Amino acid sequence: MTQPLKLYNTLSRRKELFEPLNPPYVGMYVCGPTVYNYVHLGNVRTFLTFDTLYRYLTFIGYKVRYVRNLTDVGHLVGDGDEGEDKIGRMAKLEKVEPMEIVQRFTNDFHTVMAQFNTIPPSIEPTATGHMVEQIEAVQTLLAKELAYESNGSVYFDIERYNQQGGNYGKLSGRILDDLLNETRELDGQSEKRNPLDFAIWKRASPEHIMRWNSPWGEGFPGWHLECTCMSTKYLGKQFDIHGGGMDLKFPHHECEIAQGDGLTGHDPVRYWMHSNMLTVNGQKMSKSLGNSFLPAELFAGSHYLLEQAYSPMTVRFFMLQSHYRSTLDFSNDALKAAQKGYRRLANGLRVVKTMSYRPDESVSADMAKQEDIRKAVQQFYEAMNDDLNTAVAIAQVFTLLKYVNMLYLNQLQPAALGDDVFTLLKESFSTFMQDVLGLKEEGSDNQPVLEGLLTLYREYKEQRQYDKVDQIRSYFKAQGLAIKDMKHQIDWAYEE
Ligand SMILES: [Zn+2]
Repeated sequence: MTQPLKLYNTLSRRKELFEPLNPPYVGMYVCGPTVYNYVHLGNVRTFLTFDTLYRYLTFIGYKVRYVRNLTDVGHLVGDGDEGEDKIGRMAKLEKVEPMEIVQRFTNDFHTVMAQFNTIPPSIEPTATGHMVEQIEAVQTLLAKELAYESNGSVYFDIERYNQQGGNYGKLSGRILDDLLNETRELDGQSEKRNPLDFAIWKRASPEHIMRWNSPWGEGFPGWHLECTCMSTKYLGKQFDIHGGGMDLKFPHHECEIAQGDGLTGHDPVRYWMHSNMLTVNGQKMSKSLGNSFLPAELFAGSHYLLEQAYSPMTVRFFMLQSHYRSTLDFSNDALKAAQKGYRRLANGLRVVKTMSYRPDESVSADMAKQEDIRKAVQQFYEAMNDDLNTAVAIAQVFTLLKYVNMLYLNQLQPAALGDDVFTLLKESFSTFMQDVLGLKEEGSDNQPVLEGLLTLYREYKEQRQYDKVDQIRSYFKAQGLAIKDMKHQIDWAYEE
């Protein structure tokens, strides 16, 4: 009997049995990107983690409503309550409409998410599309005296919230008094009663482009408010899972708890989940260190730290090889190893599809191998149920691959496994890989392109244009493929 699903809850700091509020339905909200720039690889890791959770929950029978927002207003440079809007700033720099910035980077985000084979969320709401809901939420918080207006802006009152039974700081494990001591004294100029209070509505300065009418004059919503409004609108006052990157735990998610609790009297989220950071050669990935690369740079191998290109599935596999709560280090060696591992699995997927069961009276049953396969399948579920331990789950898929390859090489006869275990092996190997881990064969999607390139390759070779010949070779190599020159034709194969 397999252990039931347990998830690590950041709020309780332990693994908890996953019990949805209304089974078989599960509500899951994940903080999406602020669409003012190309999606960062660190964010990609978060979205891959929750894509895998979404896939797994669906795979084991839950009906999941997955909501992931797009932040298209209200996120200020520096993540605080002061400064320019990130999108407004880009719009000014490029002299275009803010919505052109939003559209361009939303399109890019969707392209990258598709390259990584993530399933689109059930609902992808935007902050600008929920202005009415956000203004209403501000009014409710004002009516409950959990917020106050100051000079056309409205702030959430943290001291009042805690006096009324709230516990600001409980998610990130911070103590309110410590936080108060850490924050600078008010300079007398601030509109806030308390430096920790955060904006739920900001008055728009004359040069601010993105602005809406409100009972408090023209302004725009505070960054934290949209997630509260959109999660509860689509998932209810209380819902099952809220995910995001570790960096959002404080203050963003702490503020979401305070707002949700303030609005409805309920803790909005039952299971808070956070994925960890990326490092590069042991150093924190950051723009200022020059060691942060974009997905497109990774696919093209065009960043100076990258020795070659890595395909989307290689990167997906690489990320899933470590547990989402551990830091993950990018290095060329680790990525190359991942490329090999992924290619072996993809090859397995290609051959397993061609296999079918053949009964054979003369072959005797191999009980040990049957048992080993059953155990690997069981342990795959155990690993996924243990807070989504994809690292251990992938090890089980490699055990299954070993038997797939033995069958392919005729070292093992299907009849030795029996119809049941043969079918279990075949189906588990492909569903675990494709449906749960979201790994697909890259070669097959790419086949027309590869075939076309091979034709060009032959032509360039005849014309002795060797620089172009080399270019095509290295393109193939980047995909883990090798071009084979044979007497009358040119073919490609998975590199060993
Ligand atoms: Zn959010």
